[in-house]
Amino acid sequence: VARLTVVAGISRLSMTCLSAGLIIALAGCGDDSSIKRKVELKAVELIGKIATRSIPDDTAGGFHTIPIEVVNIADGVHQVMGIANTHIISTSEGNVMFDTGISLQAAEQIKKLKPVVPGPITHIILSHSHADHITGARFWREKNTEIITHREFAEEQRYLTDLELYLHKRNRTVFPWMPEEPVDIEMLKYGGIVPTITVDENDFKFEQGGVKFEVLSTPGAEGADNICLWLPQKKILFSGDTLGPNFPQFPNVFTMRGEKVRKPMEYLNTLDKLIALDAEILVPSHRDHIVGKAAIRAGLTLIRDATRYVHDEVIDGMNAGKSVEQLMKEIELPDELALTEEHGRVSWAVKSIWEYYATWFHFDSPTELFPTPVRDIYAELASLAGVDTLLDKADQHIANNEAMLALHYLEVVLAKEPDNIRALQGQVSVYNIVLHHAIEVTKNSYEKDYMRTLIGRTKTRLEELGDT
Ligand SMILES: [Zn+2]
Repeated sequence: VARLTVVAGISRLSMTCLSAGLIIALAGCGDDSSIKRKVELKAVELIGKIATRSIPDDTAGGFHTIPIEVVNIADGVHQVMGIANTHIISTSEGNVMFDTGISLQAAEQIKKLKPVVPGPITHIILSHSHADHITGARFWREKNTEIITHREFAEEQRYLTDLELYLHKRNRTVFPWMPEEPVDIEMLKYGGIVPTITVDENDFKFEQGGVKFEVLSTPGAEGADNICLWLPQKKILFSGDTLGPNFPQFPNVFTMRGEKVRKPMEYLNTLDKLIALDAEILVPSHRDHIVGKAAIRAGLTLIRDATRYVHDEVIDGMNAGKSVEQLMKEIELPDELALTEEHGRVSWAVKSIWEYYATWFHFDSPTELFPTPVRDIYAELASLAGVDTLLDKADQHIANNEAMLALHYLEVVLAKEPDNIRALQGQVSVYNIVLHHAIEVTKNSYEKDYMRTLIGRTKTRLEELGDT
């Protein structure tokens, strides 16, 4: 899930008051780092409570509605659930953690889980660089804790930090509760984690207190730095976000909120590697764990075969000279490979796989090579065709449920007359068609949240223009 789920819906004023109070409190702590951490945790707990309270229930998959409760998965294996889950495997020589949750919930997760599994935290394994999995780490980490990440973690964390302003704006459209600007509070800031052990394609195995740990390199799903944890004696697989939040689901080969291209073949290799383990318990870092060898194998195989199917269809279509849009329309999962598209959509994966192999020049028109998009002639086109004619065409397409054809006409009109009320009303109708299709058919959470944002923004604009 997003790396910027931070500080939902808090007004700038209350945030400023909180930061001011914190700075005073922290200044009073001097060098005592344990007191400092307690004050920080208290503050984060407060912010977290305000934040999650103001998020609508069905936004972003509804993770924030999951109660923060401890689950005993197996002997010596505990989890505390939440927006993202945090896990502890206890051994006679100390505890090993897998993922640390989001900072906003760290205080409550620590309060619930720590008393159940006393002892030092010897290792923290971070499944990947997304904020909901790593920002709790600063509150769990102890003086001698080893931090284990994938070798690519540093690079993923670097670009997500460097592009923070850009990504923040994009994330706000799919996570509408986010504040206008990134939050400037030190302990909630993203990034800065330096691993002490890194894992590459050779994996990383260690043993502690008689428990065997295998940290597996599993790139390709939610980025190049995914790792899973395998406990061979207990046959438990901790999958982080490698399989996404719903099991089984069609993967997010592409994420709408932006992020580097995800490599399809890498992901297929990862799925083969996970199938071969024959896990008996599967523990993703979002939502409930899954028990049962047959169900886990069947789910993993389905994800692999569906991803493989879409990948191969794209390759075939490219070789047959079809356009990317044609393939986005044509390629569908056959019934026996049907999977939910709540998180990743098949048509977006088609486009992403295409561009992974061929990048952005599709040979459709030389205009693609120059910074002169077709919208540069929209205003002139609107003058030539006449605004009313174009709006009538848009209405016909809306009546026929052809949302994107209607939207093209409306965008031509708005290029000439940005405040045209009929065109803006048309946009609201188009977004509603897409929203309802998303609710009824695709169920894709990003699509729903994006449309709700666009509907909200356009309605605000209409109100400003005096249209009630
Ligand atoms: Zn996540």
